[in-house]
Amino acid sequence: MKLVKLLANLGYGSRKEVDKLIRSGVVTDHEGNILGQKDFPGAENVRVAGEELDPQAPLVIVMNKPEGFTCSTEDPGETIYDLLPPRFSKRNPGLNPVGRLDKETRGMLLMSDDGKFLHKVIHPKSGCLKVYHVILDRPLDGSEGELFGSGEFMLESETKPLLPAGFEALGEKEARVTLHEGRYHQVRRMFAATGNHVLKLKRISIGGLTLPAELEEGEWRFVTEEEKCALF
Ligand code: URA
Repeated sequence: MKLVKLLANLGYGSRKEVDKLIRSGVVTDHEGNILGQKDFPGAENVRVAGEELDPQAPLVIVMNKPEGFTCSTEDPGETIYDLLPPRFSKRNPGLNPVGRLDKETRGMLLMSDDGKFLHKVIHPKSGCLKVYHVILDRPLDGSEGELFGSGEFMLESETKPLLPAGFEALGEKEARVTLHEGRYHQVRRMFAATGNHVLKLKRISIGGLTLPAELEEGEWRFVTEEEKCALF
């Protein structure tokens, strides 16, 4: 029962499908002995088709999200879940993005099945800053730093001003913006309010963790315990 439940929670299928998988003989221990439904040598010693199991919950992964992928399963078209092994979409508890990125935004995305972790990263009080690299359509007008940092900057259709945000001009049409919060299309709307238009947007870090350089666009990996601690 333990083996069936574990494999079902890791997304290998429904209990019925996992039963079938076990009966097919592809579930073994680390020495290659075929396991039955009642065998359980410990999760670290179970193999499916010779492969080690994915980590159990709580799990955090980091992805280099490409443009054109949405963070929601409800939207049509390609989603971030298409970049993960299909069984990840069937895990219980499920994996969710930790602070969504728009379809056209690239860069660092964390995903987790841990609600408390998710909340902590998102909540402004945790001090987990999100840093974005921005390419603009028109030259910066020099007002951005003061406006974004004021704590009094209201976006259209919002009822509360934005928390002060960090701003650094990197070129005529290029900037770095640091946010404490994550409102809907926030960076794009901030620049739109100055009469500008964001052409390219990339999240480059979250808290003390920078997008790992080895991750090509569309790639992901598990976040280590040390990296998790570095976030806050
Ligand atoms: N701000 C945006 O406008 N879009 C994002 O995806 C993230 C922050």
